[in-house]
Amino acid sequence: MERVLVTGSGGFIGSHLVKFLKEKGYWVRGVDIKYPEFSETKEDEFLILDLREKVNCLKAVIGVTKIYQLAANMGGMGFISSNGLASYETSLKINMNMAEAADWEKARILFSSSACVYPTNKLDIVNPLPIKEEDVLPAMPNEDYGWEKLTAEKIYQAYARERGLDIRIVRYDNTYGEEGTYKGGREKAPAATCRKVLEATDKVEIWGDGEQTRAFMYVSDNNRGTWMLMESNITEPINLATQELITINDLTDMVCDIAGKKDLKKVHLLDKPQGVRGRLIDTSRAKFLLDWEPEVSLRDGMERTFKWLKEEINGTVL
Ligand code: NAD
Repeated sequence: MERVLVTGSGGFIGSHLVKFLKEKGYWVRGVDIKYPEFSETKEDEFLILDLREKVNCLKAVIGVTKIYQLAANMGGMGFISSNGLASYETSLKINMNMAEAADWEKARILFSSSACVYPTNKLDIVNPLPIKEEDVLPAMPNEDYGWEKLTAEKIYQAYARERGLDIRIVRYDNTYGEEGTYKGGREKAPAATCRKVLEATDKVEIWGDGEQTRAFMYVSDNNRGTWMLMESNITEPINLATQELITINDLTDMVCDIAGKKDLKKVHLLDKPQGVRGRLIDTSRAKFLLDWEPEVSLRDGMERTFKWLKEEINGTVL
């Protein structure tokens, strides 16, 4: 059995990835600073470690051949727009340490970067052109979160160039699904919209005018693409995203329809952060090099997410 490590496995994508890798037959070690919020750990071994400490990164990597580096201090727009230091004080330290630890153990490392690395000046329209991996420069990332991700990519690439570290870099677009954070300030639009609609009696609040556009990727598509990239020989950054661009207003209507609450009135909070105006990520490289394409439609994924959240909040089954 090949032994692999998932850092950040107490988080949303990491805890799903652990289940995916277990089903594929790997021996999995998970590491996080906390336990998963909504489910039991599924790893063969789960260690609580603070990866800001280099010694803990060295402990984490012992005996593994592949490392999925997902640990980060992050959240949705509401969190990253007012917590710039979290990216540098936590995530940057983790990435510096994990690059060094992977090099020490001679393990392959996959870094979970983000669509937030892309220049915001190319994303100030509702219907932007699909953004390709090479469009990342000249740099103008989204918030300190995006700057940290781009800096970390550079760190891993320097290790690859100068020390021969075996790297993979994936740039995720917004990912959603069951067991995603839905309250507390770190939640992202899909889970936040489901919660707001579930709790609403007559109106639902939307940040901004709701005409900002996004594409949302269901977590199983994310996990499959991540694993395919890890198992490939592709060392250049790869986008994973869907092409189903939707406004936040239309996403809200979709959730209202799923909930059977079509009469809710939308209230727009124009002073709340709304991020870039529009973002569509080109995935032709993933299609061409990995033969990866998303399989789960937004409607299908949102129905599953809503059902889970309804059970989570109400303790009832749809
Ligand atoms: P998440 O916040 O649910 O998971 C990150 C995990 O890292 C958390 O469980 C957290 O406790 C852990 N962590 C934070 N500080 C730590 C520390 N000092 N030591 C050990 N663990 C620590 O986030 P997620 O949505 O699962 O995202 C996983 C990765 O994918 C992150 O790197 C994120 O930036 C990236 N990403 C996510 C999305 C998305 O839409 N979810 C989009 C683009 C990129």
